[in-house]
Amino acid sequence: MNVLQVSAEIFPLLKTGGLADIAGALPAALQSVGCQVRVVLPGFPAILADLADSWILAELTAPWGERLQVRQGRLRTLNLDAYIIDLPHLYARAGSPYEDAWRQPYADNHRRFALLSWVAAQLAHGLDPHWQPQVVHSHDWHAGLTSAYMAFMPHSSLRVATVFTIHNLAYQGVFSPACFYELGLPHEAFAVNGVEFYGQVSFMKAGLYYADHITTVSPTYAREIQTPQQGCGFDGLLRTRSRALSGILNAVDDAVWNPATDHHLTSPYDVQDMTGKALCKAALQQELGLTVQADAPLFGVVSRLTDQKGLHLVLGALDAILARGGQLVLLGTGEAHLEALFKARAAQHSHAVSVRIGYDEAYAHRIFSATDVTLVPSQFEPCGLTQMYGLKYGSLPLVHRVGGLADTVVDCSLENMAEGRANGFVFDDFNLQALERAMARAFALYARKSEWKKVRAFGMRQDLGWQSAARLYAALYQHLYA
Ligand code: ADP
Repeated sequence: MNVLQVSAEIFPLLKTGGLADIAGALPAALQSVGCQVRVVLPGFPAILADLADSWILAELTAPWGERLQVRQGRLRTLNLDAYIIDLPHLYARAGSPYEDAWRQPYADNHRRFALLSWVAAQLAHGLDPHWQPQVVHSHDWHAGLTSAYMAFMPHSSLRVATVFTIHNLAYQGVFSPACFYELGLPHEAFAVNGVEFYGQVSFMKAGLYYADHITTVSPTYAREIQTPQQGCGFDGLLRTRSRALSGILNAVDDAVWNPATDHHLTSPYDVQDMTGKALCKAALQQELGLTVQADAPLFGVVSRLTDQKGLHLVLGALDAILARGGQLVLLGTGEAHLEALFKARAAQHSHAVSVRIGYDEAYAHRIFSATDVTLVPSQFEPCGLTQMYGLKYGSLPLVHRVGGLADTVVDCSLENMAEGRANGFVFDDFNLQALERAMARAFALYARKSEWKKVRAFGMRQDLGWQSAARLYAALYQHLYA
């Protein structure tokens, strides 16, 4: 089965969040279950720089008249065949792939990402005479137009199935209706049964409407997005498409996230010998100027700082954490008001709270290795990866029971402990009292060292690898293509 993956980001070359982790891990996972995977990506500087042995597969004219080249080659770091859209005018910009230095979305984002889908559709339609995809799998709104373009291509004898994966329904790729006429889609696509969304164009909606099958990144989120509370305006459409919608839980790339082999850690460790984890904790406390204290429960946050992530609850609970002798270390970047509030709290309690604003892959690894608890109190969470990284690194996740967090974390209630299923702390109501009760459970368990270690070891031993998800995707492709 030949699969073309379409995404805007790919780890480790370009990452702003979980999408990149998945786009980077999925090709190898699918290859291990017998799929041949190639990727198509925009020619962002970091991606072009990694492309080896490339040649120009085609020179094309975009729907709005701009000339572009499609390069074919191999991504060195990932050892992966790739098609890259070479158009420096659109992609050769430093920093975030989506926003300028003032955090404003680029005014030509509709062109930058429509082109990704448009080129993917050309590849589906035979652009490469030596390789024909049987399935085109596109990810998030940036690649949402792929199946719309494919739906309006002249019919050919080729049958190519389309899968669209929602990583976060809240980001919808909405553009003014004037943009529609640059996209090269026929007039009839600008309709309720098409890409129109409350009078505007939504690339996300294109994926939801035109793809043969929609997946999202956890079974619970697949159910939640069919409700008005979490459907972000798409719940009606998703309910009508419910038979073509399924949730496949994300996984963890063991080659990147494994405390025994992680080169970012000064003292690697595994579940058999946790000495390294204690050393990682002491080293981080020392480096950050926190009180170096082995038995102070250390809470960690690695997150985009947006309202979605529920971090106002962490701010609210901070006094309780400190009063109980806990410490907090945070790494994140995002909304200015959250950055300022966390920085102010760190300044007040520099011996117990450390806040670093920014994006730092290596530091994120060190936080999971050093902390005892990973906080993920998101208001909604399609899957969430950091709770799984916490599990692998022996940093028990404390989460709101929502989306993929509900699918991966089992609370340390007495019943769950007795059944040997517990791996973290879960709260139901999205408010401070509920979070603080979960935190109280975390402190109580932390005080019972042997039980804490048992739960931690269980979490570290859980199979969070890609095999099962890869098999589900491969079975889905087979089913669609049959
Ligand atoms: P989302 O995709 O909504 O941001 P996920 O939990 O699915 O949330 O994925 C977040 C990914 O981004 C994880 O790999 C996490 O470690 C990483 N991450 C988030 N913020 C930072 C940061 N400031 N520095 C380094 N890595 C970060």
